[in-house]
Amino acid sequence: MTDSNLALANLLFPSLPYTPDSLELLYPARTVPVVTRVGPSPTGFLHIGTVYTALLSERIAHLNDGVFYFRNEDTDDKREIENAAEIMVDGIKRFGIRMDEGGIGPDHSDIGAYGPYSQSKRGPIYATYVKELVARGMAYPCFLGETEMAAIREEQTIAKQPMGIYGSYSPWRVATLEEVQKAIREGKKYVLRFRTHGNPNKRVTLRDEIRGDIEMQDNFMDTVLLKQTGIPTYHLAHVVDDHLMRTTHVMRGDEWIPSYPLHVQLTEALGFTLPKYVHISPLCKTEGGNKRKLSKRKDPEANVEFFFRQGYMIEALADYMFGIMDSRFEAWRNLNPTADYRTYPLTLEKLPLSGALFDIEKLDSIANNSMTLLSTEELQKRGLDWAREYDPELARLMEQYPDLTYRALDIERHTEKDPRRFTTFSDLRGQLQFFYEETFEALKSTAPALPECITHEIQKAFVEDYLKTYNPTMERDEWFEQLKNLAHDHKFARTGDEWKTGGYIWRVGDIAMMLRILLCASAKTPDLCYTMRVLGRETMEKRLRG
Ligand code: GLU
Repeated sequence: MTDSNLALANLLFPSLPYTPDSLELLYPARTVPVVTRVGPSPTGFLHIGTVYTALLSERIAHLNDGVFYFRNEDTDDKREIENAAEIMVDGIKRFGIRMDEGGIGPDHSDIGAYGPYSQSKRGPIYATYVKELVARGMAYPCFLGETEMAAIREEQTIAKQPMGIYGSYSPWRVATLEEVQKAIREGKKYVLRFRTHGNPNKRVTLRDEIRGDIEMQDNFMDTVLLKQTGIPTYHLAHVVDDHLMRTTHVMRGDEWIPSYPLHVQLTEALGFTLPKYVHISPLCKTEGGNKRKLSKRKDPEANVEFFFRQGYMIEALADYMFGIMDSRFEAWRNLNPTADYRTYPLTLEKLPLSGALFDIEKLDSIANNSMTLLSTEELQKRGLDWAREYDPELARLMEQYPDLTYRALDIERHTEKDPRRFTTFSDLRGQLQFFYEETFEALKSTAPALPECITHEIQKAFVEDYLKTYNPTMERDEWFEQLKNLAHDHKFARTGDEWKTGGYIWRVGDIAMMLRILLCASAKTPDLCYTMRVLGRETMEKRLRG
């Protein structure tokens, strides 16, 4: 620590409430063996990849008697969006992911002794460490403006050198105290840069808990630590926070692998112990035969709200993501179909090392299974909760006609013939709309035409006879026999035996389709026999007679 570095540190940071030593006391070592966190940047929505990281990190902490916390990484001033952190916390909670610390209290206040948990509230903490680095000659103020930076880039392009501020391309790296004082007096704006000891020819081997040793070029850039606004970059903020909050496993997206050498250098410069790093592959999708990361701009399903709105059961989403994290999960699930996913002994061993495909078809089949595990009461209750938020009209009808709703939902559930009508809660509307008078009326305008072979006359005659013989207590086979016989009788009455040789007149299927369309204004309905039973005679008469 030279006198001039110390003087520079005091000039830049004249008074701070902390020192590195006082911070060590404020954030003492924890007694738990594992500490993990999720640290999303508030972008206005919760990315499905964040939920994936949170599910994984939470499990790894809690299966090992550890702590899992939420950190709001709101250091990107341009991207700041109101309530963004709250949206993320609430979304993560909705998955039943238990957070021990973070902005999770009433009104999203901080809970936990290692806060504040929003990076924007930790300014003086970051400054403390940058001051320390300046005092030790490991950070310096850089007053380069846009034009000067552009000139450096041009010079580097001509000389075919890597772009960036480093070594001889960084004039302020070697500036004297007097030069800095002068620039400050002139009111020039500055950032604080790391003074790295790395050089372009050095290679390092870094440890990743799932990838093993990764050999790569060392960092040689004098990366920005504090921006002109005094706001830290991710690099500094995460190194400081994960140290003070005593994170043992940094689980984050693999897009951070290239800056891992910088993070190691910073950790060493600050005298911290390096946590374990787990670089997670992103969730991907295929497009035009190519695999790419789910993009928050292009893919609606990148936003968790998409799944909430569609009405996916969160258990299904969690199961689906567990299947991605660990290929052994599916076999476990088959043996334990109703067990809470939290009882699965998840480890890091099987985490995929390259982009895991987010496959909606697979998710749908899991979702479909999860729905069949619900009792009809649960389906009705959870469906109503969903509808209250996403389909208020449906919610109102479900509340107004609870018995009808129950009976309509219950058609053929949990029978061998279970038609698996529900994949998500948004399927409820399609399955219930025939049963409420209000939605049936609306459907009528889009009802398909009756089969061509069914003339108005036939319709009228058949319907009257059908209503005479219909008996709601008939089980399905008997019901169908009766329908078939009646269709046959009508055919005979019209054409005698001629129909046998005279070609196609109608089949029982056409008659059933006619009944279906008249009763439900749709060609696709739940099982017709039970649909009739739920509608009841009065409604049937009204709808069949038109
Ligand atoms: N805020 C960073 C991001 O959203 C977090 C990375 C980390 O978990 O360290 O990518």
